[in-house]
Amino acid sequence: MTIDIDFDADELAACVSCGLCLPHCPTYRVTGDDTASPRGRISLMRMLDEGTAPLDDHVIESMASCIQCRGCEPACPSGVPFGHLMEATREAMVRAGAITPWWQRLAFRTLGHHRLLLTGSSMLAVAQRLRLVPSKRLGLPARLPIRRAAHRSSGNDVYLFTGCVMDAWQRETHLAVQRVIEATGAGVTPTADRAPCCGALHSHAGLGDPARSLAREVMRDLPGDQPIIVDSAGCGAALKDYGHLLGTTEAAAFSARVVDANEWLADHLHELPVPIEPLDLRVAVQDPCHLRHVQRAHLPVRAVLAPHVREVVELDDDGLCCGAGGAYSVLEPELAGKVRDRKREAIDRARPDVVASANPGCLLHLAATGLDVRHPIELVAEALDLD
Ligand code: SF4
Ligand code: SF4
Repeated sequence: MTIDIDFDADELAACVSCGLCLPHCPTYRVTGDDTASPRGRISLMRMLDEGTAPLDDHVIESMASCIQCRGCEPACPSGVPFGHLMEATREAMVRAGAITPWWQRLAFRTLGHHRLLLTGSSMLAVAQRLRLVPSKRLGLPARLPIRRAAHRSSGNDVYLFTGCVMDAWQRETHLAVQRVIEATGAGVTPTADRAPCCGALHSHAGLGDPARSLAREVMRDLPGDQPIIVDSAGCGAALKDYGHLLGTTEAAAFSARVVDANEWLADHLHELPVPIEPLDLRVAVQDPCHLRHVQRAHLPVRAVLAPHVREVVELDDDGLCCGAGGAYSVLEPELAGKVRDRKREAIDRARPDVVASANPGCLLHLAATGLDVRHPIELVAEALDLD
């Protein structure tokens, strides 16, 4: 089968096959296989584009095994926008019926219906208590919430984007982030039922039309010019990419309002109260790929943590992916587990008390190995005793 991929020809031509990205690719590091590397995948994309390779199982596996971590992008001297190439390829593969079967599309569709998602998640929590759900295999939190504290607005200086799954499973993080933002004196509107989903998981799965539809909905639901603060690295990266996704100046202007919560807080640290005493913790920072490689906004995490904990330590793996990748850890569990093993070794070498991760997917994926993993701003809230 051949497929028609909507590539930007210049973006596809930019790769010179130098291979400098290979050490930064987690799937290549684990497999040693060139077709599981950025260079190999781009070469296959070109062959698909030229019609010199069919869309067979080998090509599908090469594309499906990509975590879309985009660790290859900052390493590339030619500036190849690999994430855009992979999203276009996956979109064409979905059109050809090669990936993302109907049941996955159905699951993704619920993400845009917030009340339905919350109700379904609560029912899942009950089933989990009754031991009817293989939580570990599905990558679920150890104890899903049945009930959640309500969102409340404290003003409209900033929006706090609360999204879909994170709001269902980890609302406590949103509430802690809101308390910290409010401690700077800013009034916060949590987006809650408005703007229910950024569409990141849809884009990753090759569901371009639903992703664009959700992007238009989010833009319509969050008018004005207030900053849109995001405490999930994956959502923030998607919201900052609406200009590319929709290709309009309105979308680009919307994206310019989006800021990661750590980025925003690093600029407002002087407005926070001084902690009586920093938390007595050695904290290792795990950089989510969509914060480090895509948003390039990972350094503020250190600035935010430094006054609030005893010690901040770096991992020695140069920001290699942890293997979470949105739904990747569920869809490709074996490779995701091997990639995580490498991250776990790097964390163990750092000997932390706690790991700080600014992305809900990474946090759950790493916590499943028994680590204490928390959002960095939750640690700030704890240090400031903000209940
Ligand atoms: S993606 Fe960039 S770094 Fe990787 S092989 Fe192509 S040009 Fe080289
Ligand atoms: S996005 Fe990540 S997994 Fe995919 S090719 Fe690039 S570095 Fe490798």
